[in-house]
Amino acid sequence: MTVAPSPAIDWAAVRADFPVLTREVHGKPLIYFDSANTGQKPDAVIATVDDFYRRHNANVSRAVHTLGTEATEAYEGARTKLARFLNVRGDELVLCSGTTFAINLVAYSWALPRLQPGDAIVLTRMEHHANIVPWQLVAQRTGAVIKVAELDELGRLDLDRLYALLTPDVKLLALTHVSNVLGTVNPVREICREARKRGIATLIDGSQAAPHLALDVAAIGCDFYAVTGHKMSGPTGTGALWARREHLDAMPPFIGGGEMIKEVRFEGTVFADGPRRFEAGTPNIAGFAGLGTAVDYLSALGMANIEAREQALLERFNAALGEVPGLRIFGAAPGKAAVVSFLIEGAHAHDLATLLDLEGVAIRSGHHCAHPLMQHFGVPATCRASLAYYNTFEEIDAFVAALNKVRKLLA
Ligand code: PLP
Repeated sequence: MTVAPSPAIDWAAVRADFPVLTREVHGKPLIYFDSANTGQKPDAVIATVDDFYRRHNANVSRAVHTLGTEATEAYEGARTKLARFLNVRGDELVLCSGTTFAINLVAYSWALPRLQPGDAIVLTRMEHHANIVPWQLVAQRTGAVIKVAELDELGRLDLDRLYALLTPDVKLLALTHVSNVLGTVNPVREICREARKRGIATLIDGSQAAPHLALDVAAIGCDFYAVTGHKMSGPTGTGALWARREHLDAMPPFIGGGEMIKEVRFEGTVFADGPRRFEAGTPNIAGFAGLGTAVDYLSALGMANIEAREQALLERFNAALGEVPGLRIFGAAPGKAAVVSFLIEGAHAHDLATLLDLEGVAIRSGHHCAHPLMQHFGVPATCRASLAYYNTFEEIDAFVAALNKVRKLLA
């Protein structure tokens, strides 16, 4: 990630858009360093959700009345905006509740009917459970096996070993774009090219990429790309799966119900085409209205500017952490995202996080839904500080002061 900083953006004004960041916790100003878990929401997103319920609330695609049309426009508008943001076609974008749903959709609708004994799925050591467990369920039901690509000492994928795993039995390679624990940014374009050469389909978990990187999903050359709205400054319960149209057309429905059909008879049902086939039932309409605004918000700032801002914060953060005695950092891949997992010698991760909370600092402690990665490092848990564009250099200094204070308490 080499991006030029943009002095044109007033980041203090951007921060002021986030009401929760003015909060105090235990009498201290909140330092929210848990954006990899969920991102905070700007006023504009909150206002859109509020306005939807106050003025436009109706169901989508059913009513011809004005409110029904407005609700449909808000929902479909989110699809159009998100498609533009990801550089994909709207008629290839399935709106859903988030990455977990998106990956399960591919598992049940694409992989389950296709895989058989003797087939293999390749995952990586750094996957979130959302990109492991659905494949284990598919493997159990089809007789396919799972192979795992391992990491080097910096927390990068060992590409030679990964490519050696891509043998003719492999039908799918599913990997994260950015690690939620290590911050490693995987070279997904190159990896997808290698997989494609071998006729292997690829699924990219973009949960931690879409909030931080300027994305061009079409250029990545994958078959499936999943994103989750709540990490992109949008509401919870929103997300999307992009899939090549040829896959969408060939995939049977995953969940049946209203909205996903052309015609229903007791003798049989004709299903809707494209994304609609996978969007049964009433969606999170207000949430998608908010996600549309979140995408507008991120786009107005410019993802390249967000990336540059977060890289500048990370640089300062790494330098400041270098002053903390007994600190072990997990993941040092060049160009990594602003996610720092760490432990302090002699202190349990949960104790550190609990004492930091008393200082107003919100970080995550635990396994980060990445048990196999914890097993790799031989630790049950780490602390994770994850930054976003609305954080400040002053917060980093205050965080390190708080960390040094609690470190001494636990020593
Ligand atoms: N994949 C990664 C890399 C994540 O970080 C997360 C959330 O932490 C998920 C998947 C799951 O996302 P969601 O719970 O929004 O479906």
